[in-house]
Amino acid sequence: MPIPESEKPIIKGVIQKEKVIVDGVEVDGTWNAFLIERTQTGYDPSVWDEIANTLEGVTISACWQCGTCTSGCTMREYDDNFSPRRFIDLARKGDKQALAELQDSLWRCVSCQKCTHRCPKGVLVEEVVHAIHNYALKHGLVKKDPGTIFDELFLETVMKNGGRITELSLASAAAKAGMVTFSLRDLLTMAGPILKSGIYKDLLKPAKIKNWDKIKQVLEEAMKEEVVPE
Ligand code: SF4
Ligand code: SF4
Repeated sequence: MPIPESEKPIIKGVIQKEKVIVDGVEVDGTWNAFLIERTQTGYDPSVWDEIANTLEGVTISACWQCGTCTSGCTMREYDDNFSPRRFIDLARKGDKQALAELQDSLWRCVSCQKCTHRCPKGVLVEEVVHAIHNYALKHGLVKKDPGTIFDELFLETVMKNGGRITELSLASAAAKAGMVTFSLRDLLTMAGPILKSGIYKDLLKPAKIKNWDKIKQVLEEAMKEEVVPE
């Protein structure tokens, strides 16, 4: 009987027989093996409580660990360690150490929503995955990843440019942060069409969106507060 790697440390042994007969019926396959004991100590319920108390994580409690989300997850194909079902399980156990070991995976959700549409229990899986990642970031279990850094640059650029984003400002912010590099050839290739079309004025100083001052206030307030569901 295959035992998942993550469960091996907590299983003390397996009784496995060639042939098992129950009420005169021979059972085989996985039914001829029994776990002696499966005990995990050191649960930290505060992890679950904190995640379940955020707006994004509020549906986590409905999960029954069926794995439907993971089996159809887009990112799973590229990263074997990316498993929404397992992230939820670790959050339930409060296993901070295991969450920290997922530094290179936890942030990779591409928000395609396949998991959310497929979940039989109505868990908003994509949101829950982000809530777990946010928890790990907030408590220093994982370092800031490229996705989070880019999100911050994006937001910063929108706030500086009157609610608009331009490729020029975002690309230069990303280059300053060392996330992308441009060769002289790249710059010359881009500069030609930009100068010719005359859009460089908009790119350098984009016009504010309508009612930006009011919208900015709302955004600033929203960024200050963490909204907790009732
Ligand atoms: S599909 Fe839903 S219920 Fe099943 S493991 Fe994923 S989140 Fe949990
Ligand atoms: S939203 Fe994220 S977790 Fe859900 S299927 Fe897509 S990549 Fe996977």
